[in-house]
Formats: sequence, structure tokens, C-alpha cells
Amino acid sequence: MTTIRVVVTGAAGRMGREMTKGLLQAGDIEVVGAVDRVAVGTDIGTLNGLQPHGVPINDDLAAVIKTTRPQVMVDFTVAAAALANARLAVEQGVSPVIGTTGISLEQLDELHQLCEARQVGAVVAPNFSLGAVLMMHFARQAARYFPRAEIIEMHHEQKIDAPSGTALKTAELMAEEIETALAPPAAEEKVAGARGATYRGLAVHSIRLPGAVAHQEVIFGGQGQLLTIRHDTISREAFLPGLLLAVRRVLHLKGVVYGLENLLEL
Ligand code: NAD
Repeated sequence: MTTIRVVVTGAAGRMGREMTKGLLQAGDIEVVGAVDRVAVGTDIGTLNGLQPHGVPINDDLAAVIKTTRPQVMVDFTVAAAALANARLAVEQGVSPVIGTTGISLEQLDELHQLCEARQVGAVVAPNFSLGAVLMMHFARQAARYFPRAEIIEMHHEQKIDAPSGTALKTAELMAEEIETALAPPAAEEKVAGARGATYRGLAVHSIRLPGAVAHQEVIFGGQGQLLTIRHDTISREAFLPGLLLAVRRVLHLKGVVYGLENLLEL
């Protein structure tokens, strides 16, 4: 069986480690290179509690691409680094699969043009969790029939931003289906914020608690019934199936596909 040769950038980070571990265990993928600014020289197998793999972390992506000839670059770094890494990769004919968040529309456009010029495919997916992507898709479908809904999202207490990006994206998708966004009825709030925040006509409630990972419920209300769509991320492993899908598909693409949902037949 031919394997897909992959280099991971940000390989020593939280996502980089978890995803490298999964890629190392996938039979049709060969991790040929790993790049990070920290843990340089550490074997990626050892770093992930596996047998040594013979691939140490290197801090020079250009050199790694030259010596290991990967087909795909998986990136979980920071937005500024991800774009620079992607430019380097595409120029060498390597397809980027970017999980790093915070990439702007202008940067996406630049990447798309670069990919078109080099006839290379790329995937940029801010959320590789299949369950979360499906939850958003189902919420969008339900919004056609239940125009009144509220979103409750719950995350670990280290999460800085609120509401979560997933909650905002869900509200945006639902608002596209609801012709007239119905603002939640005004209630006399005895305590400010009791009705949550309002975004695109939907009330959004953010919970931050130790013990939580990443969870979201979209609760629809209709005559005599409630419909709840819920997704729970239990661990970072949740992102692996979506990443594997993207790595396997990216070599058949030309240009940038943005969002895992666009690789699924929904
Ligand atoms: P992290 O800080 O643990 O890891 C980032 C790693 O990138 C670090 O090891 C850092 O040294 C390395 N790095 C930074 N600049 C670099 C460069 N120029 N070259 C090589 N390595 C570099 O962060 P994390 O929690 O692993 O998250 C990484 C990114 O993935 C974030 O943008 C996060 O929002 C995103 N994320 C995406 C998904 C998804 O499903 N797409 C899921 C979770 C997190």
C-alpha cells in the first residue's frame, strides 16, 4: 500500500502531539518530519509515549521539506506561523492541512491564489471534530422548522473568549435559515445577563467550569415540544478522524477547501 508522507508543524504542542500520535498509528500515513520551536531533537514517538520513530523534532521547516519530501503538511501552530508555513509548503508542492485557528479571510484568499497557481490542494479547518460539524449542520436544518432556539455552550475555565467560536458559527448558520431572526423576548432581568447574550437573534449562554472540556447544546422550542441537539468533546482525540479525512482527501483537491463540512457529503 502506498502511504501518504506527512510533516507535522507545531508537533510539540498540545494538538500537535495528540494528532502526531494518531497519524503515527494510521496504517496508510507515514510521519516523515516534525517541526517545532521547542523540544527540538526529541523523537516524536518517544514524545508521544510510543516506540521511537526515528523522526526528531526539527526547527527548520524548509530543510525538513527538502530532506524528507512530504506530500502533506499538518499545521497546529499559531495563525501567523501557519500562513508562513503554508506558503513554504505550497511553493514546494506540499499540500497544507491547517487546523490552526485565527486565519483571516485575506490570508485564506492569499493561500487560495498560491494553491491555484501551483495546482496544489489545501484544507483549512478551524474545527476538525466531526461531531461538532454535524451538530452545527443539524442545528441549521432544525432552524428551518423551529425558528426559536437558544444556545448553551460549556468549556473549561481556561478558555479566554466567550461565546465560543463554535457557538457563534452555529448562530450564524441558523440565522441563514431563519428569515426573520426572532430576538429572544425581552425579560425583566433582575440580574444583568440572566438571559445571556444575544447574537443573530439567538440567546447564547456561556458556562466556564473546571471539569468541562468543550460542550454545546442547541435547544429549540416549538408548540408543545423541545428539541435538543447536543455535542460533547471528551478529549482531543475527537479531532483525529476529521484530520485523517482531510489528510487523505487533500491530495485530490486543487485550491483551498475551508471548513471540514465541505469535505463531508451533508
Ligand atoms: P499549543 O500552544 O499547545 O501548540 C502550538 C505549538 O506550535 C507549540 O509547540 C509552539 O512551539 C509551536 N509553534 C509556534 N510557532 C511555530 C513555528 N513558527 N513553527 C513551528 N512551530 C511553532 O497550542 P494548541 O492547543 O496545540 O493549539 C494549536 C492551534 O490549533 C491553535 O490555533 C488552536 O486554536 C488550534 N486548534 C484547532 C483545532 C481544530 O479542530 N482545528 C482543535 C484544537 C485547537
